[in-house]
Amino acid sequence: MSQQTIGVIGLGNMGNGMCQTLLRNGFKVYGTDLGLAQQASARALGVAVVESIAALCEQVDVILLSLPAAKHVQEVLLGEQGVLNCAQAHTLVIDTSTSEPDVTRSLAKSLAERGLALLDAPVSGGPAGAAGGTMVMLVGGVEADLVRAQPFLDALSSKVVHLGPSGNGHAAKLINNLLCAAHLVSTAEAVALGRKAGLDPAALLDGLNAGSGRSAISEVNFPRWILNEGFDSGFTMQLMRKDLRLALELIEQTGLQLPLAQLVGAQWAASEATLADQDDFNCIVKTVATGDLL
Ligand code: NAD
Repeated sequence: MSQQTIGVIGLGNMGNGMCQTLLRNGFKVYGTDLGLAQQASARALGVAVVESIAALCEQVDVILLSLPAAKHVQEVLLGEQGVLNCAQAHTLVIDTSTSEPDVTRSLAKSLAERGLALLDAPVSGGPAGAAGGTMVMLVGGVEADLVRAQPFLDALSSKVVHLGPSGNGHAAKLINNLLCAAHLVSTAEAVALGRKAGLDPAALLDGLNAGSGRSAISEVNFPRWILNEGFDSGFTMQLMRKDLRLALELIEQTGLQLPLAQLVGAQWAASEATLADQDDFNCIVKTVATGDLL
């Protein structure tokens, strides 16, 4: 069988990691990014970096997006020199960005009208999961497109969950990140409380992680990036604040009253005053019970 090829648009923290995994699994990978540094590090991995989306579309009929937000996805797909105008017939686009469900549904419709397909496949697991092929993917879209994407998704993920039609993957990802953001705040409060009560934070977490209060935040983020004050997970405040804004918009669209989610959203929005966009998202713990946590 000839080597399968894929094009990656967006070679940042996540895109770079996914390229590593795709190359390791024997795929031929083309890539493009606006940033020279991102282009250079992808080239060093063995990615065939091209100058434009049009050049990428000449080489591949499966394209993976790893872009900051919905507006970048729109620009890349619908721009004059974008995927819609340049893609080969029957091209499949797999959007791993954390994006907006409504925008995704509308883009999927526009692509389908030209015989192209779009799957939303946002990811969980961070740059380490991207580079290790252990991400979780929450997929929205048509079953047949998922079958076609499967060899790539299998390489990239330890678990793929199909949530239904287009946009549902992105909605599920916003819900995941709302919980992740809430767990960061609530676990930081728990650790601050423990410290004030005379407990050692590491010992407290050891206990919590064996019990019903645990989460990915207490099991992974606190030991790996917070207690050691490393704050280098590769996921930024800017991106997480975007996800929280979108989660609150989703809540508003449903008409639900979710007061805890509103409190969490307000805390992340207020963090803009003290935490820079490029700070690590785990830095939100610094806004919790200041001085009693670390
Ligand atoms: P990033 O900013 O490191 O990478 C995004 C890349 O897209 C940048 O290199 C940027 O130059 C490129 N880009 C922007 N517009 C472009 C265009 N028009 N053409 C080509 N390239 C363009 O972001 P990231 O951390 O890799 O995150 C990517 C997506 O994955 C985001 O939607 C984020 O919310 C999501 N995500 C990130 C993580 C994480 O831990 N970093 C985890 C899960 C999901």
